[in-house]
Amino acid sequence: KVFQLMDLMPSNQFISKGKHFMIFNGSCKYVDLRKIILVVHVLVGKKLQRLMGRIDFVNVSFHYSSRPTAPVLQNVSIAVTPGEVVAIVGLSGSGKSTLVNLLLRLYEPTNGQILIDGFPLKELDIKWVRERIGFVGQEPKLFRMDISSNIKYGCTRDIKQEDIEWAAKQAYAHDFISSLPNGYGTLVDDDLLSGGQKQRIAIARAILRDPNILILDEATSALDAESEHNVKGVLRALRSDTMTKRTVLVIAHRLSTIQAADRIVVMGGGRVIEMGSHRDLVREEGLYARLNRRQADAVAGS
Ligand code: ATP
Repeated sequence: KVFQLMDLMPSNQFISKGKHFMIFNGSCKYVDLRKIILVVHVLVGKKLQRLMGRIDFVNVSFHYSSRPTAPVLQNVSIAVTPGEVVAIVGLSGSGKSTLVNLLLRLYEPTNGQILIDGFPLKELDIKWVRERIGFVGQEPKLFRMDISSNIKYGCTRDIKQEDIEWAAKQAYAHDFISSLPNGYGTLVDDDLLSGGQKQRIAIARAILRDPNILILDEATSALDAESEHNVKGVLRALRSDTMTKRTVLVIAHRLSTIQAADRIVVMGGGRVIEMGSHRDLVREEGLYARLNRRQADAVAGS
């Protein structure tokens, strides 16, 4: 009802002696605009002055509505401090992407809650939150336009070519872009770029938008030396002084890429089963240590 009312406002409201009158359902009524604004504010959600980048998953449980008997996350609690680089690892199907889906509010937790800077996510204006989160998925979407335009796509501020190249350098994309026949002016075609290169362009795009939270889902389709270089390089760049400190979540499939993360969260069967630095987890001799050994052996054997 409130939204219907708001839809009517631009053309059907008028003010008389400080009171707002609106015409709806054919009749003219007095409406206290302050009350409407309050209700709309609650429905649409809060915008904070700035987003620091603290993320708390508090006892989050979740199942997809199509499979109510199959819990995907069970009592997951993770507290990420502003500026922290947290890697999420675990076997396929352990719920890593689902965590990100909930953070982007594509789904609501079945139980528990997610807080951003201490505020329940569901009370925040989700458009405002998403504008401050850079998400680079496994198969990022590039458009049939030149590389510069792809990198600055979605950026609302004024962007210079040097800003684009700076972001590409941070994303370890500058060298391969420069070696293309038309450099940054090269038209992106379906089979021009490898999966890893596409992801690097998408990372540059995300960095250019200067998000407070960056989420990177490492491409499984490009589990090669090139993509390892991507994630490692980006993490290194994100730690350097030249960049704003921002919270980074990396869903990693290759454990060697995220050894430098501040914290590694190991998921298993929808639960957090281990959490700590690479060194701590190797010492613990748990699932992470086993997965790490298995991947190192596979690399040595190949
Ligand atoms: P991977 O490493 O393979 O990407 P993951 O750890 O990210 O896996 P999720 O993608 O979060 O795991 O999936 C967790 C579980 O939820 C899996 O059993 C998956 O089949 C199921 N699942 C994921 N998306 C949906 C969906 N849209 N509807 C129903 N079930 C889903």
